[in-house]
Amino acid sequence: MYEKTILVTGGAGFIGSNFIHHLYTKYPKYRIIVLDCLTYAGSVDNLPVAHKNIQGEPRFEFWYGNVLNSEMIDALVAKSSIIVHFAAESHVTRSIYDSVEFFKTDVLGTQVVANAIQKHSATIERFIHISTSEVYGSARTETMDEEHPLLPMSPYAAAKCGADRLVFSYMNTYKIPATIVRPFNNYGPRQHLEKLIPRFVTNILLQNPLRIHGDGKSSRDFLYVSDTCNALDLIIHAEAEKVNGEIFNIGTGVSTSISEIAVLLQEIMDPEKKVAVKFSGDRPGQVLRHTCNWSKIERVLGWKPTISLREGLLKTIVWYTANKNWWSNQLWMRDIPITTASGKRELH
Ligand code: NAD
Repeated sequence: MYEKTILVTGGAGFIGSNFIHHLYTKYPKYRIIVLDCLTYAGSVDNLPVAHKNIQGEPRFEFWYGNVLNSEMIDALVAKSSIIVHFAAESHVTRSIYDSVEFFKTDVLGTQVVANAIQKHSATIERFIHISTSEVYGSARTETMDEEHPLLPMSPYAAAKCGADRLVFSYMNTYKIPATIVRPFNNYGPRQHLEKLIPRFVTNILLQNPLRIHGDGKSSRDFLYVSDTCNALDLIIHAEAEKVNGEIFNIGTGVSTSISEIAVLLQEIMDPEKKVAVKFSGDRPGQVLRHTCNWSKIERVLGWKPTISLREGLLKTIVWYTANKNWWSNQLWMRDIPITTASGKRELH
């Protein structure tokens, strides 16, 4: 009845929900199953409404559950042909404050999913593990390709690195049909206010000052979330031999400093209503620069980033301006108390 059944873990969060909207709109003959335990970062409001298909079956299912629940994961993996695993604790600063949940969800949760994939590998076409550019640490080369050393700098990055290597080991030991994707910094609609770009956009909308850690020179490769969705779409639909057992970076190849993001947003939003910029102590374990080398995914699958930073920021600003109800109850979660690199207790 369905052309494909795709299980998405962590689908109620930022990238997961954007990906579900992408699949839901583009592929009416696919069944989508979401598993999410709705932490502070996930919400059912992020999901599409479960319309029924011609036979009266909902082609979208939401399962409230934890990736650590092996019985539930086993049952959902058993009825799926493609699994995209996003579920994770995802905020670097929060991992500095308390990393317990990061290692449980990101490492042990991934092991639960990978064990289920191994058990059902005869019926699984593809397992896409969402890793991150954070596994690399600060750039040691002009652009960072998939061979860049893995030097995680924060507990979040270490947990994601553990998960990435766990999947890599299962690909080699058990030959599970896995693909590891390492997205660089994503931004766009439905991203939690704790993250840089939504925090800056909403601060400017509220005419609050912008807070930058350190000197603002650390830079990241910012990728608009729809480009990530397009890359995952290509991986799902590629021939197995092109993607199974492979690792792909996705990013733009351009890095932009945090101070430049602050200037750009103020310029795009309303140059007449600029807010103050305040500097705080450096975040411990700060990554200085990330710049993606995405030539592998371009060569193998023809993927390219399509949205420029200015265009992506504009789309993001439009969304946050129109959706204040979505984000106003997250305002109190923007600040996290951590001890900075110089030993001072500060809000970050
Ligand atoms: P997010 O924090 O917005 O969403 C995470 C989702 O996972 C939430 O819906 C949450 O409820 C769910 N979740 C958390 N713990 C769970 C558990 N134990 N069981 C079930 N569900 C659980 O994160 P995001 O920004 O959408 O990131 C998604 C994935 O992409 C993560 O694996 C993250 O590491 C990775 N990633 C994110 C970025 C980025 O810039 N946002 C960049 C690279 C990689």
